[in-house]
Amino acid sequence: MHASWFGPLSVGETLFGVLTIQSEDERAYGPRERLIFRTLSAYVAVAVANARTHSQLVETEAEMRRLAVTDALTGIPNRRQFLAMLAHEVERSRRHGRPLAVVLVDIDYFKSINDQHGHPAGDSVLVRVAGILDHHRRAVDTVGRLGGEEFAILLPETDAQAARAVAERLRVLVEADWTCWEGKSIAVTASFGCASLDAGELAPIAGCEDNDPAALVLKRADQALYRAKHSGRNRTEVFEAD
Ligand code: GH3
Ligand code: MG
Ligand code: MG
Repeated sequence: MHASWFGPLSVGETLFGVLTIQSEDERAYGPRERLIFRTLSAYVAVAVANARTHSQLVETEAEMRRLAVTDALTGIPNRRQFLAMLAHEVERSRRHGRPLAVVLVDIDYFKSINDQHGHPAGDSVLVRVAGILDHHRRAVDTVGRLGGEEFAILLPETDAQAARAVAERLRVLVEADWTCWEGKSIAVTASFGCASLDAGELAPIAGCEDNDPAALVLKRADQALYRAKHSGRNRTEVFEAD
């Protein structure tokens, strides 16, 4: 090359790179080319700066969306996301005429873990239990943190007895596990309440506007959980209509 020019690509104080033009002809560039090259460098610099800002915005937005649906402590879906997925699954089950189950999980005597070992130790136990539930769930199931020391599992295409089997398996895993905290091991148990909706209960009821299958299955699972708590904890109970 017998002629080469380099132009800085900068916007304000920020330098993004360098633009170069080169020619084998040593008289290739005159005052006119100089003007064009300068103008071009300025446009390219602005374009590069905009592209960066845009891709950063896209990344930031994706990250914000992820944070909005994730529980900050445990990294699993938060209450809002779990309820959205439940509503979605209710719709799907209704369309396909399939059952659906929910299991509520509540750690037993969790307050005493905080009292004995401190709140950070309690947090560590929550992360541990969430990890067990999430890693050992079936691939089609969803585990979310509803709040505090309460979790929920959404089980598509599952009736109450199959939900009990899933819950029992997870209950045994939680019971057998422990959290290492400052040289001590902290063991916890959890109580499980299962409930399901069959295809008939998912169908819309004519003239009944407030028919909400998602709320119904959560209420039933909560009643089963209440029974598990009151019959000794570290148990799995299934909702039974009175
Ligand atoms: P039960 O067997 O009846 O479920 O008793 P429990 O002690 O587990 O239930 P209770 O509702 O009395 O106490 C729950 C405790 O969970 C109280 C609250 O301070 C604690 N908690 C809620 N959220 C968090 C959290 O994010 N981190 C920690 N470390 N503790 C939490
Ligand atoms: Mg509890
Ligand atoms: Mg609770």
